[in-house]
Parts: sequence; structure tokens; C-alpha cells
Amino acid sequence: MATATQAISVNENVTKYVAKPRKMLINGKWVDAASGKTFPTYNPATGEVLARVAEGDKEDINRAVAAARAAFEKGPWRNLTPSERGRAIWKLADLLEQNLEEFAQLECLDQGKPLVMARMMDVPYSADQLRYYAGWATKIEGATIPISAHGAKFFAYTLREPVGVVGQIVPWNFPLVMATLKLAPALAAGCTMVLKPAEQTPLTALRLGELIQEAGIPDGVVNIVTGYGETAGAALAAHPDVDKIAFTGSTEVGKLIVHAAAGNLKKVSLELGGKSPNIVFQDADIESAIPGAANGIFFNQGEVCCAGSRLYVEDKQFDKVVDGVSQIASQIRVGPGMEPTSQMGPLVSEEQLNRVCSYLESGLAEGAKAATGGSRQGDKGYFVKPTVLVNTTEKMKVVREEIFGPVVTVMPFKDVDDLVAKANNTPYGLAAAVWTRDVKKAHRIAAELRAGTVWVNTYGVLDSAMPFGGYKQSGWGREMGKEMLDLYTQTKSVCMPIS
Ligand code: ADP
Repeated sequence: MATATQAISVNENVTKYVAKPRKMLINGKWVDAASGKTFPTYNPATGEVLARVAEGDKEDINRAVAAARAAFEKGPWRNLTPSERGRAIWKLADLLEQNLEEFAQLECLDQGKPLVMARMMDVPYSADQLRYYAGWATKIEGATIPISAHGAKFFAYTLREPVGVVGQIVPWNFPLVMATLKLAPALAAGCTMVLKPAEQTPLTALRLGELIQEAGIPDGVVNIVTGYGETAGAALAAHPDVDKIAFTGSTEVGKLIVHAAAGNLKKVSLELGGKSPNIVFQDADIESAIPGAANGIFFNQGEVCCAGSRLYVEDKQFDKVVDGVSQIASQIRVGPGMEPTSQMGPLVSEEQLNRVCSYLESGLAEGAKAATGGSRQGDKGYFVKPTVLVNTTEKMKVVREEIFGPVVTVMPFKDVDDLVAKANNTPYGLAAAVWTRDVKKAHRIAAELRAGTVWVNTYGVLDSAMPFGGYKQSGWGREMGKEMLDLYTQTKSVCMPIS
């Protein structure tokens, strides 16, 4: 672990921000939970309490939904011109960038990821998403429809209208990115919303709430309720006055959301788990496939829904790829995110540490072998060694279930049809990748893989403009790109005779 280097000194604003218990944003006011309760959020590099946050529950969700409903009905946001809405969202992106260092440090301390990653990826990407959807605010269009009813002449057209009050529940792996990705298209569409950040990582979403106010987005349009999933999250998913729920998290909780949403048949979109196959053919550019495969699993501590956690390698290259990925894994500097040399931080929580370690134990007990890693690192903080497992079989839990940590299983293959069957043999279908120099083979396999995204000769490329989402039990609907606006708008057909 990198302990010899000096940690980066904590930004003054961050120190001040975490010193006070953080309140929730309801109807433009920063308020305590109705119960008066708070809960701690921890620094995963040390296991120590970082800040205390209001513990919202059903009553707070009720208050926030009432505020969002009133703001939707009164219309201070949806009745702005699209250009005005776009400009406010763009201003929010500018404010976020102006406070980049503060946000990056808050994310690093609360989530664990290396500061350099939060600076280079999380905060700029969040700003990019806001700008991408700011641009869409002026481009949400209906169509004119030539209809044939009754043999008469009609003028018929469609309007794309905001879906209404939206509940948004987000996870802890990319807290700020997940918050902006949910908020930006809903704002562009003219919805009002209640956002519930993950209880492990609420700080950047709360700080974003302050910038939302500074950007001039009216009171009640964005409400942020912090609290636990089983209480605040469940109340939001079940609320009868919420028109749509958007959820990112585990497949298990996704199923609970669907049940909870049935009461008022609210619209549901889900971005869930994955167990994505990353396939290396022997004709691939192995020198780029090896670091690509390593990055595909170890980026963000492996806490990535589309991580390339099942690596399939054509048998002649198997040893070379295992050696190459293992070498990279063993050289990754694992340490506190605030140390400048750290390339991988701790897992987000003690619970996640225990979960990943129990997968490692189960894999090793079932006969897998760790080519590198295979256990916790140190005894302070929630660090796990980047791990490469070989001797794994399709039946093992480590191959079938989502681990959500820095653990890759590597398996050889000979026959392409058998490989495709194995790659698709999972309830998930979020992403996949193919490494080959044979262009025809790349596109043939890409078409056969049952996954929402397939990368060829790269891994993990995401973009605000490119739709992302799951086949099978990896989700409902697509986020990012133009398709995400469909989640926050609904079509109204208008029709009149003109002859
Ligand atoms: P993980 O298991 O990886 O922590 P979850 O799917 O449990 O991921 O969490 C993602 C988000 O879902 C978090 O904001 C969490 O609070 C929320 N959540 C957890 N359980 C529920 C639930 N029963 N209903 C609604 N939201 C929930």
C-alpha cells in the first residue's frame, strides 16, 4: 500500500463542508429529517466517520414529492422556454467545473476512488452530461402525422411532454456521475424530481443541490432526500404521486422497485447489474488487449456495472494474457485515494469489502486459483488486492454472480460457437467486448452477443451521446444519448378535422 507518500491536503471548502451535519433539499430549503435523525457516512480509506447526514424516511419523501408535485403543477420550470431551461442546465455545468477540485475531493473521501480519477473522469464527465442534455432542451420535438381515418382530411401531430414528477434512486460507485445523468435529461424535459443518493455516498449530490440553486433552477424542481434504501428509497419507489421511477443499482433491488412501482403503475427504468464477457481472440493485438482487459476490470476498484469480469481468451494466447493481466494487477498501487500515487482506492464500505472477500473465499474453495491477489490488503480501510482467478469453471459463483470488485476470472476457449454460448450464458446482458484483427469476425460476434453495448478492440468507452443499458436482467430502457429523453417525456397525439 502506498503509505510513504504525502497525502494531498484537503481543500478548505471540503473541510468546512464535512464539518457540519448536512441537511436535505426540499422545496428550495435545506432541512433536517422530520424525525431529526442523522446517519454517518464513512471514509472508506480509514473506516472513520467523514460526515453526518440527515436520515430521511417516508415522511421526508412525502414532503419532497409534494414539493415536486406543486412545482410541476405551477410550472415555473416546464413553462420556461426550452432555451431558458437549457441555459440553466448549462450554467450548472459551468458551476460544477468551477468547483472541480472541491467535488473531486468530496467524491474521493466519500467513495474512496483515487482523487486523480475523480478529477479526470467523474467531475468532467458529469459536466459533459449536463451540457449534452442542456443542448437537447431545445430539440425535444414531436411530428406531424398524415392520417387516413374516415377518409377525411385531418391535421394530426404529436407533442413530447414531460412525464411529471420523477423519483431517481442512484448507487455509490459513481455518485456524482449517476446524479447528473439522472437529473440532466429530466431537467431538459421539464420534469420535477426527487433524487435519493446512496446512503454510502451522499455528499457530492448534496453539494450539487447548492449549485442547482445557484444556477437559478426554481425551488421544488430538484429535491434531494438522503436516507437508507429500505426506508427512503422504498417510499419513493412506492409513492402514489410519483409518475416515474428511474433506478440504478443491483438487479435484486431493481426487482423490488418493480413491485413497489406497481401500486400506481408508475413508469420504470432500470440500469442494473452485469457479468460482462470480455473476449480475446488469438488474432487480436495482444499488446493492447492485455492492458484493455486489465483496465476493463480494475477501473474504479471494479465497482462498475459494466466491468469486464469474465475474460475469455482463445487457448493459444491464454498463458500470455493471464501473465500480462496478472502482472498489471500486481503492479497497481492500491492505497488511499488522497495519496497522489494511488491508482486504486478502497472498496466503498465494510459491507462491500466483506462481500468481495466472501466471493474470493468461495472461488478458492471451489478450486479456483489466484494468479495474483486473492485477498484483502492490509487491515485498515476497505482495500482488496486486484485479483486474477484461473482454473475457474462456468458453474462457480465467481463466474456466475456479479462481484462488483477488482476480481476477474480468466477462461480459455477453442470453439467460437461454444464461446458465444458461454458468453451469453448469464441472466445479465449489460456489456461485452471482442478483441480481434478480423473485422468480419468482430461484427459477427458483436451481433451474436446479448448485451446492450459491445466494444470492439477497446473496453468501457461510455459517452453522454451513446445509449447504454441492459439486455435481459440488466435493465429496462436506455440511458445516455437521445433515447434517455424518452424516459422523461411522453407522447400526446393531437388531431383535428380540417376539411
Ligand atoms: P448495492 O447493493 O450495490 O449497495 P443497491 O442496489 O442496494 O446497491 O443500492 C442502490 C440504490 O438503491 C441506493 O441508493 C440504495 O439506497 C437504494 N435501495 C436499496 N434498497 C432499496 C429498496 N428496497 N427500495 C428502493 N431503493 C433501495
